[in-house]
Amino acid sequence: MRILLVEDDAALAESTSRALRSQGWVVDCTARGEPVPLSLREDRYDLLILDIGLAGIDGFETLRRVRNQGSPIPVLVLTARDGVEDRVRGLESGADDYLVKPFALSELIARARALVRRSQARFSNELKMAGLRMDLDARRAWLHEEPLALSAREWEVLSFMMARIGKVIAKEQIVSASNGWDQSTTDNAVEVCISRLRAKLEPAGIQVRTVRGFGYLLEEQAPVAKT
Ligand code: CA
Repeated sequence: MRILLVEDDAALAESTSRALRSQGWVVDCTARGEPVPLSLREDRYDLLILDIGLAGIDGFETLRRVRNQGSPIPVLVLTARDGVEDRVRGLESGADDYLVKPFALSELIARARALVRRSQARFSNELKMAGLRMDLDARRAWLHEEPLALSAREWEVLSFMMARIGKVIAKEQIVSASNGWDQSTTDNAVEVCISRLRAKLEPAGIQVRTVRGFGYLLEEQAPVAKT
């Protein structure tokens, strides 16, 4: 489990991260909110622990930016203020839980554990490969935690292929998996859809490989540098 901790009080950041690491969790610390959205796009975290009172943009604004980029990461907000207003505002801006300072480290660990467990249950109906994540219930997809726009057809074809990673999928299977396509659907229509998906998935390090005479195969690969 990997946690991003945003806390500008150095002593508190130190004691908090020590407590979290004692659980065998990996903890990255930052004192500022500005780099958080980018960190969440670049690295995979299971939990964000976010102080509200920060220098620069505060925790509310940080959270707003995180949610605006479509990140579903569970967020535990830390607030020094005892005001009900802050807690309500935190929850309204997309936090999943909050702790009022000072808090017992055992309480923090228990809350962190509960949040991650809850989010893992919520996202169990997910398909993942390299930088791509698909939530089958919500019918949403993300590339490196940024929302990925897919047409209804692309969604059907891609989710069908993602459920069969490592297997070669015949064109006929793709046709029958997609609503509104029937046996009269031309090979060309399938190829057009596949080539659109190819262009969208390449930045995520996913290749749609053509297996001549058989069909297609999803493969993970290092992203190709654009020339
Ligand atoms: Ca603070």
